[in-house]
Amino acid sequence: MARFFCVLGFFLAGNFAQLSAQESPQKPTSKPANPTVETPSPAKPIYVLLWFDTEDYILPASDDAALRLANFLKAEGIRGTFKLVGEKAKVLKERGRNDVIEALKYHDIGYHSTNHSIPPSPAMYLNALGFEEGVREFRRREGKGRQTVHEVFGVWPSCYGQPGSSWGPQSYPVLRDWDMIYLDAGRHVSIAGKPCRMGGVLNLYQLENTIRADLKTQNGMEEGNAKFTAARDKLLAEGGGIVSVVYHPCEFIHKEFWDGVNFRKGASPDRKDWKLPAIKTPEEEALAWRNFEGFVRHMKRFPEVRFVTAREISAKYPDNAKSVAWESRQIASALSAMGKDPTWVQTRNGALSPAELLDLTVKASRDRFANNFRTYQLRTDLAGPSTASPALLEKPLKAPTYLVRQALAEVSEQLEQNGQIPPAVWLGSTAIPSESFFAGLRNAWEKAPGNVPFAEGDWEFPPARLKAADAIEPDEGRLWNWVIFPEGFRAPNLMAHARRQAWTLKPADLAKP
Ligand SMILES: [Zn+2]
Repeated sequence: MARFFCVLGFFLAGNFAQLSAQESPQKPTSKPANPTVETPSPAKPIYVLLWFDTEDYILPASDDAALRLANFLKAEGIRGTFKLVGEKAKVLKERGRNDVIEALKYHDIGYHSTNHSIPPSPAMYLNALGFEEGVREFRRREGKGRQTVHEVFGVWPSCYGQPGSSWGPQSYPVLRDWDMIYLDAGRHVSIAGKPCRMGGVLNLYQLENTIRADLKTQNGMEEGNAKFTAARDKLLAEGGGIVSVVYHPCEFIHKEFWDGVNFRKGASPDRKDWKLPAIKTPEEEALAWRNFEGFVRHMKRFPEVRFVTAREISAKYPDNAKSVAWESRQIASALSAMGKDPTWVQTRNGALSPAELLDLTVKASRDRFANNFRTYQLRTDLAGPSTASPALLEKPLKAPTYLVRQALAEVSEQLEQNGQIPPAVWLGSTAIPSESFFAGLRNAWEKAPGNVPFAEGDWEFPPARLKAADAIEPDEGRLWNWVIFPEGFRAPNLMAHARRQAWTLKPADLAKP
């Protein structure tokens, strides 16, 4: 997805000419349709999320591009999601562009960082920090732009997506507090290209159906339409799903991204030295609008297509497991389905992350010692460990029941008070990875199915690894190929945090129509 990010061209900023508001092709001619008109909902809806990273605070003509997009979509009866950079919201106000602000307010307002490309971008500062320090720093740095967007648009943004490929796992606890979903297109984390949850946050990230019509090629619209039709056929066969469509208002009018001109490879020029990117010729701009508008109209033709905003999509992917009163029997069957190595489980009552299932298992195991069989509510705000676990066990470790009961009491308190999976569990003077502790609990549940006391004898904790971490990409160059990063940028510490936070991963299921 890197080619969608922010810097595509290789043109130098030699031409500072701008389109004025008058010169920029503008107003759609058709009358606004009423987007709230209800039509019968088909059995297999295809949700199309149109989102626009609205970020260029340097080239004033990009304001007009955002205005034209907002007006075009409104005329088509469609609401899009505009992810505003804090600084962009600020300059819209400073430039007196209340027309743009008002037009965008018709749509959903998302968030796209405080400053976008002025270094350090999120992955740079988050890689240098521990998990909790990173959470605090993300809140401090990115909270400012969110506040600005709120002040300018009068709403709290519905979603966040990082600048370029500058992703980081420490953002998730903050987004949960801010009641946002994650909306972007990157490759750091993925559960089979489908919507998932991380840290209790709906994560629309590496989606397999991320489609767009190219704005630069003569047949961009036709190729985009064909891609959409193919995705639609596949989704209908799967029972519905989501198509994610991403653009930037600025790319309709420029030859090169605003930030590539100024912040390439870690450059950090003084504001007075910022340069304007070169703009498209009138023919190039007309082609961009043709390809985009034709593509949108093509998608709109299909009766099962529902254009949705980030604010609306959460209801389409509800966390069903949250509303269940979990009984021992259901916990036992989820443990059985999980296998030895902790990972997410899809149950009849909804999906469970390994963290959620461990929490249920710890509570139910303690009660089982007391011959107490009750129901449990899901806790969905747990984080993964902040630090590395001890080395994986090489062979199973045995422990007597009294040490296991002590460990269960400690882990229960850690989950309750810290809201976090511990990296290790102490059995007397030996610390074992939480993965092995979980696998040992699962063994005991398998050996004694049903509402009965645990079997007598020593407990056995086998070697186990966090299988859910396979959903996290290795720290390779392709994750960090955003041209704004300093050359050779890697984030091994950040990606190690991400693998530990995979404790909180699970699929997000489409609501039944
Ligand atoms: Zn961006």
